[in-house]
Amino acid sequence: MPNVRLVNATLILPDRLIPGGALDVEHGRIKAVGLASQLGEAPGRTLDAAGHFVAPGFVDLHVHGGDNADFMDGTVEAFETAIHAHTRHGTTSIVPTSTVARHEQTLTFLENARILQRRGAHPDRGLGRVVGAHLYGPYFNQDKVGCHPRDAARPPTPAEYERYLEFTDVMLTATCAPELPGAAGFYRAAAAKGVRLNAGHSNATWTEMAAAYELGLRHVDHLYCAMSSVSSLRERCGTPMQASMLEFVLATTEMTTEVIADGRHLAPELLRFVAMVKGPDKTALVTDCSRALDLPPGRYTFGPLDGGEPFDSDGGVGLLPDSVNLASSVRGMDFMVRHMHQQVGLDLPAAVRMATLTPATILGLQDDIGSLAAGKRADLLLLDAGLNVTSVFVAGEAVQFS
Ligand SMILES: [Zn+2]
Ligand SMILES: [Zn+2]
Repeated sequence: MPNVRLVNATLILPDRLIPGGALDVEHGRIKAVGLASQLGEAPGRTLDAAGHFVAPGFVDLHVHGGDNADFMDGTVEAFETAIHAHTRHGTTSIVPTSTVARHEQTLTFLENARILQRRGAHPDRGLGRVVGAHLYGPYFNQDKVGCHPRDAARPPTPAEYERYLEFTDVMLTATCAPELPGAAGFYRAAAAKGVRLNAGHSNATWTEMAAAYELGLRHVDHLYCAMSSVSSLRERCGTPMQASMLEFVLATTEMTTEVIADGRHLAPELLRFVAMVKGPDKTALVTDCSRALDLPPGRYTFGPLDGGEPFDSDGGVGLLPDSVNLASSVRGMDFMVRHMHQQVGLDLPAAVRMATLTPATILGLQDDIGSLAAGKRADLLLLDAGLNVTSVFVAGEAVQFS
């Protein structure tokens, strides 16, 4: 790829903006960042950013699909379609996420994730990079199953998960409801192979969370969605009322979490509250996006076409057929960043950090991606004044979407 100096840019660093900034790219990595006047000789040709914002490429650690493809559809083509859709919205590092499904479907998901991870990015074909897979389900509590097929949610058994753990070269993170029988064994086996441990789709008590924490649990999926609350635990355990996953996350410094900032799952004040008490460095933005991204309102399938659950997109969010319960988002990461800045009121570096450095750090990839810093991959976005993505670069190469 060509070495290049990007000039006339407002750089979005993790803690501040640099108007009149410049950024050097050499051999696909960021070589220098700062005011144009402070950088040395340009490494190659100069590219005028025309006053646009330059942000690091987004990192999405929880995403199911887009452009009518779901990562559970069972084909490499479906992976490419969904990755293309999210690259267009600025996600340059993606973590394909499974759904509750049959055993063979989960294995096929892991095989496809491995193929795509090994292939790497293809900017000439509009494809960002798969940085790993998220084993999401089937180990959910049936009482908190959300839009996943209820009957297929099940407790972990070694005969099953030992097959999944043959894919730890690609599996970055795994979710399990801590209260399920066999959860401790699953957490131990996954942690021993270096997989990061999440709790989600769970009705766990504080005590069950604390036990999982001892085994290495550090992250809770989509805060406030499909998780325990004081009132759900009162139904399960009676009185005295129990502290829930929410209290455990907010009270435990080392715990990280994520929010679906699509404006339909959580109200702006609730997102503001999470940013205040948990903070942008411990809370990632995730799209949790279904296949309905950029598609007209209508009925779609969450998860695999064979065995997934029907839901309706109204163009702004997914809803279960009861029209009451939510069924994942239909938005890309650019929408979430705009929402956090324009509606929730976070400053721009913090809103962008929640979609870049924070998820990169949660995944352990912060030395390679997640900020405009010398040595990191030159995964870059040009954003206009309204924070719309106008160009995407992966390892310094301009991504072609045609
Ligand atoms: Zn979920
Ligand atoms: Zn999800």
